[in-house]
Amino acid sequence: MMGGRFVVGLTGGIGSGKSAVSDLLSAKGVDVVDTDRIAHGLTAAQGAAMPAIRQAFGDAACRPDGSMDRDFIRQKVFSEPDALKMLEAILHPLIRQQAMTQLQAGTGPYALLVVPLLVEKQGWTDMLSAILVVDCPEDLQVSRVQQRSGLEAGQVAAIMAKQASRRHRLAAATHVIVNDADLAALKAQVMGMHEQFLQAARALSSGGRDEIQ
Ligand code: ATP
Repeated sequence: MMGGRFVVGLTGGIGSGKSAVSDLLSAKGVDVVDTDRIAHGLTAAQGAAMPAIRQAFGDAACRPDGSMDRDFIRQKVFSEPDALKMLEAILHPLIRQQAMTQLQAGTGPYALLVVPLLVEKQGWTDMLSAILVVDCPEDLQVSRVQQRSGLEAGQVAAIMAKQASRRHRLAAATHVIVNDADLAALKAQVMGMHEQFLQAARALSSGGRDEIQ
């Protein structure tokens, strides 16, 4: 929980439907804060992480426009075991900081913080009032990602193998949406969840007022 705001953490495996869920909630006026988007901004030209990335990885890590050279970093992380840790040590505190700023600035009834690796990485749960997991059978994850990206099934499976298992993720959830049917079924579940979150957010803010009085 953050400064009296009701914040829902949204997570799920690759292709589970996180973007679909956050788009539906965003359309309802919920403040959506996306950690992937923040990470992208931090590593864009003039991004706040770029001075530290240049210092840690050298000029070769930066493209001529000053943004992070993703191919270089991917190769570095692949060939040097500590490179990912170094990159994460630079990015994670900045991502958290910007996420908190954006969450506090929102004016919607509650906020949704999208964190793909919420279960895998530490440091998120203390700012959350609820953890919403989009659960999806693995074969559907593979086929949806393949349709979207053209990756081979084996490549998608390799990414999934590095992520938390469904069971592990579900164990961390306070709320679950099962995205195993069509988009209409997803929307129906999301709207039901939205009502629950609205109520919980209202209860939190009236509770806060009672404390002050
Ligand atoms: P990533 O982790 O890769 O960012 P994600 O969890 O955000 O993925 P989405 O991008 O929302 O997942 O969904 C993956 C793909 O599957 C998208 O192309 C989306 O349109 C499609 N999709 C999601 N849910 C459904 C559904 N219920 N029926 C049909 N297609 C769906």
